[in-house]
Amino acid sequence: MPGKNKKMKAAILYGPQDVRLEEIDIPEIGPGDVLLKVKAALTCGTDAKVFLRGGHPRMIKPPAVFGHEFSGEVARVGRAVKDFHPGMRVVAANSAPCGKCFFCKIGRQSLCDNLLYINGGYAEYVRIPERVTRQNLLEIPQNVSFAQAALVEPLACVVHGVEESNIEPGNWVAINGAGPIGLFFVALVKLKGARPVAIDVLPERLQRARKLGAEALIDAGPGVDVVEKVKELTEEGRGADVAIDATGVPEVWEKALRMVRKGGLVNLFGGCAPGTKIEVDTALLHYSELTIKGVYHHTPGYVRQALGLIREGKIDTGLFITKELPLEKITEALKLIINHQGVKTAVIP
Ligand SMILES: [Zn+2]
Ligand SMILES: [Zn+2]
Repeated sequence: MPGKNKKMKAAILYGPQDVRLEEIDIPEIGPGDVLLKVKAALTCGTDAKVFLRGGHPRMIKPPAVFGHEFSGEVARVGRAVKDFHPGMRVVAANSAPCGKCFFCKIGRQSLCDNLLYINGGYAEYVRIPERVTRQNLLEIPQNVSFAQAALVEPLACVVHGVEESNIEPGNWVAINGAGPIGLFFVALVKLKGARPVAIDVLPERLQRARKLGAEALIDAGPGVDVVEKVKELTEEGRGADVAIDATGVPEVWEKALRMVRKGGLVNLFGGCAPGTKIEVDTALLHYSELTIKGVYHHTPGYVRQALGLIREGKIDTGLFITKELPLEKITEALKLIINHQGVKTAVIP
């Protein structure tokens, strides 16, 4: 419980590569809100971008708190909150849909016109607003640690990505990028009984993909024709059944389009920098009857499925959380992910 001391330590983003640990007020909560005492916050590629660019066009205008993959203990609840009480171990997704807009009504909550995002996991406390408390705050099962539970948010995005990819048992699934998101794809594609192919430029990332069940590894170093390599793996050189981008690099998106077989599906999952474009060969798209789709974010249903997978031990979480650092070392933790050292760091306030 936050006692008389109304202040807390928090990492504040001031601008590009400028994060300072400061004492700020513990957030006030409204009747439907929960105050969470953060026990673990995980670094993520999005945070790395936010750190390097000094903000996020949609979510974070500096100076601001940030960090969006976190779990902790309920410190205090608003008077209207019935399902949570102080001391409960919980994990929150970083957003919740409005439930009222056109997209929510047709069941496409990841496209909600008014998605409410939470940031501020790199702090001692974070306010969970009523809307997230109601839809996306979940009790952590006893066999799951705080850091493991904090994987729910990125995993939920990938559960969504896999569900949208029509993956059948035995399919070759080419996964471009073996960072945290690509690695989750490898693990989930394997669980579907399909054959993940991991593609990356860094050997240690490929080795992690192997441990998670990748059937083939492609080192995408200079001079390697990745498209050809994928085709060589498949029967009659026809190409992968499904290709996924988990890099957010437009040139890789273009390659992903060329590595699938006729009738294949391409899931362009990794978000690229604003304003970038790709070229699509119209004949390829038409005569090969390709399906090209974008997939973004998660829904409350996928958040629950993700926690279920972690609870059941279906994900080797140890491969995803490779270091633990105190909140004071937040800059060091972010630099680790920028320099591709390890996968995620658990930042402990
Ligand atoms: Zn993230
Ligand atoms: Zn909505």
